[in-house]
Amino acid sequence: MVPVVQLYARDVPELPFPWAMDVLQVVWCPLIHDDEVGSALPKVYWRNEQTVAAGRVLPEPPVPYECDEDFMPRPCTVTPTRVVEFPHGDLPVDLAQALSQRFDEIEEALGFSYYEMATTVQSKVGGYPGWLQEPDWPDCRCGRRMDHLLSITATEPVEGCWSPLDEQEPGSSDPGPGTTTDPTVVDAIGHGMDMGDLGGMYLFVCSACPDMPYAHRYDC
Ligand SMILES: [Zn+2]
Ligand SMILES: [Zn+2]
Repeated sequence: MVPVVQLYARDVPELPFPWAMDVLQVVWCPLIHDDEVGSALPKVYWRNEQTVAAGRVLPEPPVPYECDEDFMPRPCTVTPTRVVEFPHGDLPVDLAQALSQRFDEIEEALGFSYYEMATTVQSKVGGYPGWLQEPDWPDCRCGRRMDHLLSITATEPVEGCWSPLDEQEPGSSDPGPGTTTDPTVVDAIGHGMDMGDLGGMYLFVCSACPDMPYAHRYDC
């Protein structure tokens, strides 16, 4: 297992946590698995920061005996840009039809279609999965459709419709599409994973069940 992302409740107030937990850790086995998903195999841990700090912490993360380079993240930090997302693949058909004229107006005014802009294809917490294939939401054992917890996508940091502010030319204040990425930073930041054919790992959780079961989807 290799560490993929660690988030504190204080940094991401929207994240759901089980009772008494305040650290979210995602690790995965960095091999392609011969299951129906066919990707690295993630595992989610909810922890308590005080308990973790009081215990023994390894000075260096363990290096796997073997791995698929596409799913082996390099160490990096998270500097989030907050954006509002709207569904694209998840937009109900009748609503998409009702709004089609407004979508045409958006495209004419901005040069990007609604579907290119509604959902970021970036590593993120919350929002909608940036489905490249048909939406495939997992159901919880309680019968409820799970919620999108977070996505790790290969398009970090230079590709995709959106560029977070810290990746842009100095002085930029717009995280929207069409902004210019600063070439001096793109190679130096981000997790550096191609994740197969520039895919994404989406994690889902049921926050209605006390133990907060989770599931994953790999999309490319
Ligand atoms: Zn494995
Ligand atoms: Zn549930």
